[in-house]
Amino acid sequence: MMERHEERLRYSLPRQQCSACRQPIDSHVLKQLPRPGDVILCATCGQPHAYADNMTLRDLTSIEMRQMMAVPAVQRFLTEIRRLHNVH
Ligand SMILES: [Zn+2]
Repeated sequence: MMERHEERLRYSLPRQQCSACRQPIDSHVLKQLPRPGDVILCATCGQPHAYADNMTLRDLTSIEMRQMMAVPAVQRFLTEIRRLHNVH
């Protein structure tokens, strides 16, 4: 299921923590540079965050959360995360 890394752009952002599990979120492998408002999911627990204007991470608004949860790829990712960590 992993996309080939060489097809992606790797870069680092200032060290930040997941608001749910406190794991550091300081390195990202994304297809393109994030912009304010883009959403990133914690790779450890699946907690969604959005980039604020200064590129720090903030929690999603309830509207953003609803929009994100409607995306099939997001649903599959969260299902996989919960399976890996045995969270239900
Ligand atoms: Zn997390």
